[in-house]
Amino acid sequence: MSARTNPPDRELILASLRDYVEQLREEGLEGLPAAEPSVAPRESPRVHVVIETPQAAPAAPSRAAVNDRQAQPPRIASAPDAAPRSAPDELFYRYPGLEKTADLAALREFIGDCTRCKLAPMRTNLVFGAGNPSAELMFVGEAPGADEDARGEPFVGRAGQLLTDIIERGMGMARSEVYICNVIKCRPPENRNPEPDEVAACEPFLFRQIDLVRPRVIVGLGTFAVQALLKVKTPISKLRGNWQEFRRIRMMPTFHPAYLLRNPADKRLVWADIQEVMRELGRPLPSRGARR
Ligand code: SF4
Repeated sequence: MSARTNPPDRELILASLRDYVEQLREEGLEGLPAAEPSVAPRESPRVHVVIETPQAAPAAPSRAAVNDRQAQPPRIASAPDAAPRSAPDELFYRYPGLEKTADLAALREFIGDCTRCKLAPMRTNLVFGAGNPSAELMFVGEAPGADEDARGEPFVGRAGQLLTDIIERGMGMARSEVYICNVIKCRPPENRNPEPDEVAACEPFLFRQIDLVRPRVIVGLGTFAVQALLKVKTPISKLRGNWQEFRRIRMMPTFHPAYLLRNPADKRLVWADIQEVMRELGRPLPSRGARR
């Protein structure tokens, strides 16, 4: 007798397969089919996040230990396939005058109603970035999604709510204290991966944003943000948790919040990365109760 799969079972199997493919994509595997259109509702419910402390989490070091570490040469993980770092001005030759923008407002004005790549006709709003223009901590994501495109602000959908919870509950900081932006300023259709020509067209704006904010630490969120900053093909699963450097700024790669929504068990890895960032900034870790 042949076994028949009930429709609900088929949906479960399809959902599992979709998650698996997205996980492979997050880990940097190329040649995968395009992502399906997002089905997240415009008004997403607030996600209750519990960032768990790993069982054997090391105790926060004393202030003296933090100072000692800061006095040491930074521990930078090797990125074996990293390209030689460009001289700073080379990043801006593509758009003469970009290097002269004096602040974020001038940079936004320089970008204007941008049509420098093929994403321009498909966007609702260009999503520049938001937050403290002098932030010591900067988060860099991949590209706007549907909610961000609709509102013109970075990280405002379900993944954005999770990032807010990481910042506010996990780190004990106000979201307005940090600066948040993406590599790509316009939404790729159907939330597909950014293409190399789009990254190449848009990344000079990100590099100028970083130069203007000049944070102490950058947190790179997900494969595409980290690969764009480091110019490597290494998957995020191998890079995360290891300090890197972008133009003499320490950079911690970690998973994208959208990945965590699909793989909540990996929140403990992100929490370990965030603890490293807090130590680097010399900030106290909130009590466990405050993170719930
Ligand atoms: S993605 Fe960047 S380069 Fe492309 S149109 Fe938008 S702002 Fe311009």
